Amino acid sequence: MGWQAAPRTASLAQGNAAQAPVKGKKFVAIQIGARSFVDEGVEKCLDTLQEKGRVNVLMSTVFTYGRGLAGRQVPGRPLPDHGVQEYDEIHGGSYTRVHPEFYADSVIKDIRAPELGEFDILADVIPKAKARGMQTYCLFEEAYNPRLIPNFEKIAEVDVYGRTGRSTCLNNPYARTFLVSMVEDWFKSNDLDGLMWESERQGPLNNTLGMTFGGAGPRREIYCFCTYCREKGREQGINVERARQGYMALDRWVGRTLNDPRPSDGTFVTWWRLMLEYPEILAWEKFWFHSQEEVYGLIYGTAKGIKPSAQVGWHIMHYVTMSPFYRAEQDYSRLAHMADFLKPCPYNNCAGPRLARYIRNVQATLFRDLTPEQVLELHYKILGYEGEATLDQLPTAGLSANYVVAETKRAMAAVQNTIPIYPGIDIDIPTAMSEKQTRPSDVKPAVLAALKSGAPGVVLSRKYAEMKLTNLAGAGEALREFGS
Ligand SMILES: [Zn+2]
Repeated sequence: MGWQAAPRTASLAQGNAAQAPVKGKKFVAIQIGARSFVDEGVEKCLDTLQEKGRVNVLMSTVFTYGRGLAGRQVPGRPLPDHGVQEYDEIHGGSYTRVHPEFYADSVIKDIRAPELGEFDILADVIPKAKARGMQTYCLFEEAYNPRLIPNFEKIAEVDVYGRTGRSTCLNNPYARTFLVSMVEDWFKSNDLDGLMWESERQGPLNNTLGMTFGGAGPRREIYCFCTYCREKGREQGINVERARQGYMALDRWVGRTLNDPRPSDGTFVTWWRLMLEYPEILAWEKFWFHSQEEVYGLIYGTAKGIKPSAQVGWHIMHYVTMSPFYRAEQDYSRLAHMADFLKPCPYNNCAGPRLARYIRNVQATLFRDLTPEQVLELHYKILGYEGEATLDQLPTAGLSANYVVAETKRAMAAVQNTIPIYPGIDIDIPTAMSEKQTRPSDVKPAVLAALKSGAPGVVLSRKYAEMKLTNLAGAGEALREFGS
C-alpha cells in the first residue's frame, strides 16, 4: 500500500497558519490557464493581474481536460476585454512539462497538452512571478477525456450496471499512483508554494437523485462499483450486492418519479421506504465520500512530504452552497485535518441560474410533493439564505453578497479558524446571455463581504481568460478600500 499516504495527523489546536505572501496583506489568488500567458505574454499578464486585481498568488492550471480552467472564453459567450479575440479549441492534459521518471509506476503517462507547444505554465512563469513577490500554486481538477488518454480504462470508474465512466475510481490503485506521479513531478521539478485540487463530483446517491445544476440526462451517474471498490466495501463490512441492488432500485424509483403520476403515498414517503429497505444505499454513499477524503489525504501527504512548507488545499464545489446533502458530506471540520486551506465556492452571480436549475431538478425527484417555489424556500431556510430572490427572479438576479458572508462564516466556524478559508469569488463564470451576468458592482461587494466576514483572502474564479478587466478591477477596488 505504498501509494497511500496518511492524512495529516497534527492536532487542529496547533493551528496551521498559512503564509500570506506579504505580511499584513490579504491572500489574493486568481485561477489562470496557460492560454492566457501565451496569448497575452507572461509579463504583461502579470502586470494586468497586479494592477487590476491586486493579485499576489497565481493558481495556475497544470492539469485538466476541461474548459472550466483552461483555454479562452467558452464558445458562444462574449469574449472579454483582453486576450486574443477568437474562440479556441481545447485538447487538454498537462500544461507543464511531463518528466517521465516520475511516471515509471503509472499506467497513465502520455498527458502533455499539445495545443500550446513547449510552453510550461510552471517553469516559464514561476521565476517571473517570484521576481514580483507573487506566489504560485498548481491547480488541477478531475476533468478527463478518456478518448485522449491511453490506458484510461485501467483507472476508470465503473457504474452499477458495469459500464465504464468518464472519471477515475477513487479507490483504483493505478488512479492513485497517477495522481501521486503528477504531484511529485510538479513539486520536485518546480519551486511551488502550494497546490489546490478540484474534485468536482459527488457520490452515487446525490447523483441518482439528480442533485445537479446541469441538464438532467437520461443516464444517471451511479458510481463506483468497480472490482477495487467492491472488494474494499466488503472488507469494510458493507453488503455490496445489496448496495448494488439498492441503487438499481433507486434508479427505477427515479425513473418512475419523473414519468409516472404521483403515488398515493406521496413521493417522499416512497423514497424513504426504499431507503429503509436498502440502508446499504447510504452506506455506499458514505463509502464514496470517505474514499474521496482518502485521496485528499494522499495528495496532501505527497505534496507535504516533498515540501513541508507548501500550502495544500481543496476547492469545494459549488453544490456545497446549494445541496444540504452534499453539504453534510463535505464536513469542513474533517477536511481541516487534511488541508492547509479550503476554498468554498459562494459564486453569487452564476449561483442565480445554477440554484434555480438545481431546485427544479431536485423538485422533479425527491421533493415532488412540493412546488418548485416551496422547494427553494425550504432550501433557503435549511441553508441560511432567507430573503434571497424568488424562483422566477433568481436566474437573472443571482444571489446577494450576503450569501458570500453566510458561506464564509459557516466555513470559518466549522474549521474553528485553524486553517484559512479563501472564498471563491465569481467573476464572469459563464451563464446564458438571458441569465445573470457579472458587473463590477457585483464583484466589489462580494470581495468586501468575504474580507469583512474575516476571510484572510479570496480566490478569483474560475479563470482569468473569461473575466472582464472592468470586473476584475472591482476586486482590486474592494482590496484597496479594505486597506490590503
Ligand atoms: Zn471503484
